[in-house]
Amino acid sequence: MLKQHGTQEQKDHFLPRMAAGDIRGAFSMSEPALGSDVSAITSKAVKDGEEYVLNGQKMWLTNGGTSSLVAVLVKSDEGHPEGTAPHKSMTTFLVEKEPGFGEVRPGLTIPGKIDKMGYKGVDTTELIMDGLRIPADRVLGGATGRGFYQMMDGVEVGRVNVAARGCGVAQRAFELGVRYAQQRHTFGKPIAQHQAIQFKLAEMATKVEAAHAMMVNAARKKDSGERNDLEAGMAKYLASEYCKEVVEDAFRIHGGYGFSKEYEIERLYREAPMLLIGEGTAEIQKMIIGRRLLEEYRFQG
Ligand SMILES: Cc1cc2nc3c(=O)[nH]c(=O)nc-3n(C[C@H](O)[C@H](O)[C@H](O)COP(=O)(O)OP(=O)(O)OC[C@H]3O[C@@H](n4cnc5c(N)ncnc54)[C@H](O)[C@@H]3O)c2cc1C
Repeated sequence: MLKQHGTQEQKDHFLPRMAAGDIRGAFSMSEPALGSDVSAITSKAVKDGEEYVLNGQKMWLTNGGTSSLVAVLVKSDEGHPEGTAPHKSMTTFLVEKEPGFGEVRPGLTIPGKIDKMGYKGVDTTELIMDGLRIPADRVLGGATGRGFYQMMDGVEVGRVNVAARGCGVAQRAFELGVRYAQQRHTFGKPIAQHQAIQFKLAEMATKVEAAHAMMVNAARKKDSGERNDLEAGMAKYLASEYCKEVVEDAFRIHGGYGFSKEYEIERLYREAPMLLIGEGTAEIQKMIIGRRLLEEYRFQG
């Protein structure tokens, strides 16, 4: 988002340190009462001299604790009269903070880690703004009212990212399943020699290949700079659904052992669901795909 939408000063200030790994970023749209319906955001920024004062509560920040820079989307009524469409009255603020928990900057609290089912390699947190003062030069891109579009652009990259993670988790689940199926014997032969299991393996491998092809296609389209909401939405949708199915099949192939924490498939079983939700649920992807299809195939009768 900084590379695409930041001012030159913002890029010079943040990007080299982000590339060096000195700054970890977080991205904050969701609130306790909303995730899919971004237009319902209630966190607010009010201008006060050369600063903005931010108030509100955010939810589900990936890297919320470990980050020192958070892109926060809030409503901002300055310059946008009452009645302006919600997506035209939102602004992204670049909020710098100390990593850690508690009051990490005056007016900004990161309460603690959310205890999750999976996705434990990164922390996920809430963020509370109570009179948080941010200088005007930390409005992403230097102008208010563009936040919604900037975030949607970021989410498009995120969708390809989630699709790629879906491919990775599914690929690993397949590897575990195909290995176990050749080791475990029932009724006098390896279970891989039972056709029902072989068919499962065939379906799993086909899903892995198909999801990978769609993900690479969406990534290439994004890299080319062309509009890719359709491709990113399709890839995210398919890769996360297939991931869940392939993981479930690999789990079943493991029989009772899949339920034991000794086996890696148990962890993958807890990782797959997050991919169905993060960066927009299946229903949201289908809404995006459906709208685009009706644009492209508009009936000209
Ligand atoms: C581990 C994790 C990390 C996350 N990281 C981040 C992050 O870094 N930054 C961030 O901003 N957010 C983050 N999120 C939030 C995530 O983007 C939201 O959870 C997600 O967008 C869904 O929003 P919601 O949870 O409010 O569900 P809701 O929007 O309340 O949806 C609930 C259900 O209703 C369905 N639904 C909603 N609207 C419609 C509709 N119009 N038609 C049909 N069905 C509908 C949904 O598909 C879903 O099944 C994270 C979430 C998780 C679990």
